Amino acid sequence: MTTPITPADEPMAKLPPAELIHLTPDVFTVHFWDAAREHRLVVPRCTSCGTYRFPPSAFCFVCRTQDVEYVEQSGRGTLYSYTVAWHPLLPDVSESVPYIPAVVELPDTGGVRLIANLVDVRPSEVRIGMDLELVWRDVHDDVTVPTFRPA
Ligand SMILES: [Zn+2]
Repeated sequence: MTTPITPADEPMAKLPPAELIHLTPDVFTVHFWDAAREHRLVVPRCTSCGTYRFPPSAFCFVCRTQDVEYVEQSGRGTLYSYTVAWHPLLPDVSESVPYIPAVVELPDTGGVRLIANLVDVRPSEVRIGMDLELVWRDVHDDVTVPTFRPA
């Protein structure tokens, strides 16, 4: 792997402002967000056939069972896809660019992918397939979201 050439003045990835982050968990997602507040990454898994179901859903898409267990993940991930937001589409994020929304694949889950922002990285350093590690962001007293940085 080659070392990326990074301009000295290229900014590190930023994050959208906390004021814009509001959650409305429902019966299917509340366990994920409750665990996140405790800095635990959990993914629901069907107790009948073992299929990971993410995003959380009412029925298993393989066997139609409703029962799930929440399996704690290691926090490791692999970058599946991403984009760099250089231009603020809203005035509220004008101080938050560049930020990097990413699709992160979790190992040992049958291909579960999670959307989260990348941190501690410059846009030119990001590579598809790079190893990532979880970093929790405590946004508000009752809201914590996962972010990922290069491992
Ligand atoms: Zn199932």
